[in-house]
Amino acid sequence: MADITQMCTKCGKKFLIISQEQEFLKKKNLPLPTLCPSDRQARRLDDRGERTLYKTTCQECGANMIASYDPAKEKSKIFCKNCYRKYFETHELVS
Ligand SMILES: [Zn+2]
Ligand SMILES: [Zn+2]
Repeated sequence: MADITQMCTKCGKKFLIISQEQEFLKKKNLPLPTLCPSDRQARRLDDRGERTLYKTTCQECGANMIASYDPAKEKSKIFCKNCYRKYFETHELVS
């Protein structure tokens, strides 16, 4: 795999994605970054919720899902996308 030069979508600076990083992203099933390292770091600091993803199960249907918050620290019920939508649809109908 060859190194790739990407242009940062935020500041327009060119940055390098080395082959090891590409392999890592591929293994984790992640897209190639569109931001240069310094903008990525800035965004991470802005948006702390995006930093870690947790594997958990939906408490409604038991489906495997990924949460952007720590399920152990989350006090409310954890829903997958489908159940979340259903939950709000039913609650909207009730009110
Ligand atoms: Zn940038
Ligand atoms: Zn569910």
